[in-house]
Parts: sequence; structure tokens; C-alpha cells
Amino acid sequence: MQRNARLEIDLKALMHNLSVVRQYSANAKIIAVIKANAYGHGMLSIGRQLENAVDALAVACVDEALVLREAGINAELIVLQGFQNQQQLDQCLAFNLQPVCHQDWQVELLSQAVSQHQLNCWLKVDTGMHRLGVALKQAALLSQQLEDAAVVKKVRLMSHFANADDSSSALNQSQLDAFNQCQQQLGLEASLANSAAILSMPQAIKHWVRPGIMLYGSSPFATQPASEYDLKPVMTLKSQVIAINSLSRGQSVGYGGLWSCTRDSQIAVVGIGYGDGYPRHAASGTPLLVNGQRCPLVGRVSMDTICVDVTDCEAPVQTGDEVILWGGQLDVNEVAKAASTISYELLCHAGRDQ
Ligand SMILES: *Cc1c(COP(=O)(O)O)cnc(C)c1O
Repeated sequence: MQRNARLEIDLKALMHNLSVVRQYSANAKIIAVIKANAYGHGMLSIGRQLENAVDALAVACVDEALVLREAGINAELIVLQGFQNQQQLDQCLAFNLQPVCHQDWQVELLSQAVSQHQLNCWLKVDTGMHRLGVALKQAALLSQQLEDAAVVKKVRLMSHFANADDSSSALNQSQLDAFNQCQQQLGLEASLANSAAILSMPQAIKHWVRPGIMLYGSSPFATQPASEYDLKPVMTLKSQVIAINSLSRGQSVGYGGLWSCTRDSQIAVVGIGYGDGYPRHAASGTPLLVNGQRCPLVGRVSMDTICVDVTDCEAPVQTGDEVILWGGQLDVNEVAKAASTISYELLCHAGRDQ
């Protein structure tokens, strides 16, 4: 089967973006975050590409980590949600995974574990996001419990920002202060910064950084394009023109007749839709590139087609012509904004089956 919608992955751009991470994070060790199928870019190919270029890889859950191990990836491997039960803890031990402990029962389970294997683990503290992380006042006790555990080699400290993509948020400094205090008290190696913090909060760069989105070439900030940080898009989502219609002023296009021609128009139909991961909520006016030229989406996004106004294109558009939905010269953040979402979601959805 050959689909119109195609996803291209540029591994050179990935390695370039890794060099940008390095520029911003000085001598910190790098944990490349490849959860959610590497943000839709293909976890195995991205994992293979990065395993010898970074200090560790991170995934969300044990199952993702096992896929990497089964594929022969031996890198240090961090499981951000940790284990959810004894069986998963046993798998962490057997496959040398580094679980993040964010609940006291996880620490308890680790401290009781008996095994011929040992592992490194992370204690995640809640510095203000109130999602995953143990309370700061429990941190000393729990880290001691981990250090005393027979199966634990090394314990490291982690926390996560809630608002790192919003430089004006007062929570950032408050989380940083709380983390610094905890780290000083415990004297552990630490990791705090995601992409947004790497790019905007040099004080948040500790021994280890955890870039995700910036590796894939998208800016974590809605208001700043990737080009501002010299990030290059790794994913390009493409399709082609499958029909062209000459419509008259006043004729409407697509389901619901949401958009009508305000002049006689050339409307190209492109073979891609929400079934391929293009966002259904992309508004009329969302940019896309037809033969490299920016043109506006018109009307509602269908399951496998969208319509584009190509009236103003310099050269006549023909069926089979290339259309870029994002990537190349079109920043995925522009599309995300027009669809009231963030680049992370677009990349993950489009690359579900990668
Ligand atoms: C997903 C994730 C990251 C990466 O975040 P980006 O914004 O993509 O850089 C870092 N740390 C944790 C705990 C995460 O869950």
C-alpha cells in the first residue's frame, strides 16, 4: 500500500539539534528523552542513532524500555514513571533499567527487593508541579532508604518544571530554589532541566539535562520559532495534490460549508487528513507549503483530505505536486498554534505508526 501522506525523518537534523543541546548545557550529561515513540519519530531508529552519542536515554514506562533492550540497545535507560508493580521492578533489575521513584511505595518495594542484580535509580521530588514527585519533606528519609537498599547502586535526584515554557512565571524560580535546597541537603547528583529550561534557565542546568522536544527540532516556546535557537526540524510531514477544482466566488468548500470563496478560486485537494495525524482543529488559514510556496488551508479537515487555496501560487499547481504540512521551511509550531495545540501533540500523532 502506498499512502499519499508520508513522514520523513532527518537524522542529520537530529544530530545537529543534539549539538545545540550541548552548546546550551555546558558539561552536563545528556539524557535524550525518547518516550511516546520518540515524539512520533520512531523510538528504535532514534534510540539507535542516539545511544552512543548521549549519556542516557529516557522513556515513560517499563514496556518502552523493554522494546529498546530487546532491540539490543544497551545504553543507560531511565524509566520516567518508574515501575508500577513487583513484576516491573523485577524487569528493571533484570534489564538494568533506572527507575524513577516518585511515590513512597516504590521506594519501599525497592528497599525490600532481593536480587542478584543491582540498579541505579532516581528519586523524583515535587518542587511545585504537583504531578509526579515525593514531598520535599520526605526526600531525606526516602533517599536514605534508597541508598541503604541492597539492590541500589547509585541514587540521583530529579524534579520537573511546570511552567518552563513561560519565562514570566514566578513558579520557575520557586521550583529552582526548592530544588537547590533539597539537592544541597542530600548531596546527590541531580537533573532538572527539560528543553525549555535548557534554553532559558542556565541556573537549572545540573549534572544531567533531559531534552526532548528540542532534539526533534521544535521550539518549546509558543512565541519563539525553532530557527531562533538554530534548531532544525527532524520530521517532515508530506503529501501530494490529488485534485484541483476551479470554484466560483460564493461556493463553499468541505464539510459544513465552513469556508466560502471570496473570489473565483483554484482549490487544491491534498491527500492527508486527521486519519494521518493532521490536526482536525486546524483553522482555515493554517499555512502549508505547496511546491514550497505558503498557501492557506480552507474549510474543515477531513479524515483523508484537506483543501488548500492555491489561487495565488506563482506557477500553476498540478495533481501530484508536493505539499508539506510541517517541517522544512514550515515550523510545526505555526501549525500547532493554528490548531490550538502544541507541537508535541502534532508530532506524536503523526508518528504513531512509525
Ligand atoms: C517528557 C519529559 C522531558 C522532556 O521534555 P521536553 O519539554 O520535551 O524537553 C523531560 N523530563 C521529564 C520528566 C519528562 O516527562
